[in-house]
Amino acid sequence: PLTTADVIEEHRICVCVRKRPLNKKELTMKDLDVITIPSKDVVMVHEPKQKVDLTRYLENQTFRFDYAFDDSTSNEMVYRFTARPLVETIFERGMATCFAYGQTGSGKTHTMGGDFSGKNQDCSKGIYALAARDVFQMLKKAIYKKLDLQVYATFFEIYSGKVFDLLNCKAKLRVLEDGKQQVQVVGLQEKEVKCTEDVLKLIEVGNSCRTSGQTSANAHSSRSHAVFQIILRRKGKMHGKFSLIDLAGNERGADTSSADRQTRLEGAEINKSLLALKECIRALGRNKPHTPFRASKLTQVLRDSFIGENSRTCMIATISPGMTSCENTLNTLRYANRVK
Ligand code: ADP
Ligand code: MG
Repeated sequence: PLTTADVIEEHRICVCVRKRPLNKKELTMKDLDVITIPSKDVVMVHEPKQKVDLTRYLENQTFRFDYAFDDSTSNEMVYRFTARPLVETIFERGMATCFAYGQTGSGKTHTMGGDFSGKNQDCSKGIYALAARDVFQMLKKAIYKKLDLQVYATFFEIYSGKVFDLLNCKAKLRVLEDGKQQVQVVGLQEKEVKCTEDVLKLIEVGNSCRTSGQTSANAHSSRSHAVFQIILRRKGKMHGKFSLIDLAGNERGADTSSADRQTRLEGAEINKSLLALKECIRALGRNKPHTPFRASKLTQVLRDSFIGENSRTCMIATISPGMTSCENTLNTLRYANRVK
């Protein structure tokens, strides 16, 4: 039977899956769509298997989540069921986090940051921007208006265990932890924002900063975690904080055997941070003594968002539909399953 603790738990952690459509390349290759979403909370993977007599058959695997979004679901709709409820949390003096987790190319950046694929870059439809829009909407409500809250934003990247400020020309930042385990990113730019437009401008600045000087934008972003934060302050004191995170790609099998030392180290660092993240989310708000906050820069920096009484989180696991991505997709679904 469910205990009170289980009910609270369930409320604190929401785990969803989002499937993207087959892309041009997959269609050209005649890749097969092996994912079905038969109901609003179920994902089925039809994994091709080889029988002893070499005929092929499909083995179906079923996973259940809080929500499963099919490839026709808009960002706005995904947002409404995932990050939207967490906007309330930061007004109620809480800490909120929303993660996009998945293989490179599965739709993390599309979901969080908006669309950067074509020439017409549009960050106004990503969850960063939608959350900002609703923060300013909420500020107009009488009960919050009288609190006289100020809104700030930060945008940084964690790459190979190092922190870089995306709102300050990628300045490398130090992370300090004091005796009371309060973590501080020294010198991180916190920009005051007055409206959604201000936020959109910062997202653009951060994104161009993120990819500048890189031979391949996607190769770089697949190896770094991007953290966008909306912070509410009252008389200078933190009232609530919403961290929205576009995680590094989780496909790291090939890296660990790579001949290139740097690539191997980066791969190991990413694996480590994603494992620590899973444990920290599972421990959310429960004050567990052995939570591995320090095991990675990502979890260390987000520490304060995992411990408070009023902390909530949501994970959006993004998956590619193709048969060629099957292994990675199953890994993503298993990880997401364990987060709960
Ligand atoms: P990731 O950040 O996980 O590496 P991207 O967000 O860059 O992946 O997505 C890869 C490509 O797929 C992009 O061109 C993106 O526009 C497209 N894409 C991703 N998700 C969707 C979706 N739900 N609907 C339509 N196109 C999508
Ligand atoms: Mg990306």
